[in-house]
Amino acid sequence: MLDERSRADDTVLGVHPGVTVPDMDVPRTRRKPPSFRPVTVRSVEPLTPRMIRITLSGSSLAGFPIPDPAASVRLLLPRDGRLTIPVWNGNEFLFPDGSRPTIRTFTPRRFNPDGPALDLDVVLHGSGAVSRWAAAAEPGAEAAISGPGSGYAVNPEAPAFALLGDETAIPAICRLLEVLPEVPIAVHIEIATLEARLDLHRDVETHWHVLPDGGHPCDTLVEAGRTIRTVPGLQIWAAGEAAGMQRLRRYFITDQHVPRSDTSIRGYWKQRRPS
Ligand SMILES: Cc1cc2nc3c(=O)[nH]c(=O)nc-3n(C[C@H](O)[C@H](O)[C@H](O)COP(=O)(O)OP(=O)(O)OC[C@H]3O[C@@H](n4cnc5c(N)ncnc54)[C@H](O)[C@@H]3O)c2cc1C
Repeated sequence: MLDERSRADDTVLGVHPGVTVPDMDVPRTRRKPPSFRPVTVRSVEPLTPRMIRITLSGSSLAGFPIPDPAASVRLLLPRDGRLTIPVWNGNEFLFPDGSRPTIRTFTPRRFNPDGPALDLDVVLHGSGAVSRWAAAAEPGAEAAISGPGSGYAVNPEAPAFALLGDETAIPAICRLLEVLPEVPIAVHIEIATLEARLDLHRDVETHWHVLPDGGHPCDTLVEAGRTIRTVPGLQIWAAGEAAGMQRLRRYFITDQHVPRSDTSIRGYWKQRRPS
């Protein structure tokens, strides 16, 4: 599941993703996501040199549904210093002049309905609009939130779980560790530097893998995947760079014959080649 720029699913035509249909006289329309709720930055807390917690608040968050674990929200950034809410055109959110807003997907790390306040933990990877915005954000800064999208349905009968992710998956992994049952859980996280490690707040088997210089994103997760014993019923949850997740899917589902229904492996971002 990637964000606005790469989604091809979610249509209201009932067409299965990946299935080609003949031309129809019906315009291709996607289900309208929840409307954007204007919020302001209440506080900014560095968690590690690679991750910052942004707490968003505002009366518009009243009634925001409690997110499932590892769910998603869309974050809209202001344009030219002003928050303008884009309009849904049946397929995507656009400004009235036809230009694209800056919208990215994040994990609702914690929602406090009494605040109401929503925490997002943002990776400071350097080159992106939100990464730069978060690094410079100050209390009072404006933004907007839409969501939440659906999250992970935990199988309460599962004998064990394996969680694999890059830094963008850390917030979701932390949420999952708050709700997974007391069964063996192995966690593998790929990080850019050792300083990106943080407290996962649960005593489980945890492996931090530093991506070597020049490596492809999620290389270490693909390696780690090979060390996991795929016992019957093992539930595999993974998220990270899209091509890396494709490799993990191939390994677990095609090579190891893990039932697809025992896996949730999602692309969270896509490495773009420099143009
Ligand atoms: C369901 C879901 C939940 C997510 N949860 C989180 C979360 O809780 N925290 C979080 O930080 N991210 C999360 N992400 C990933 C996040 O949406 C992307 O990393 C997003 O591209 C960041 O936006 P940006 O504006 O900073 O960079 P963009 O403007 O989108 O990208 C700019 C450049 O940076 C590269 N890039 C993007 N992300 C990364 C990265 N992480 N590392 C290195 N290079 C990158 C791109 O390839 C591109 O070349 C989630 C994604 C999904 C789909």
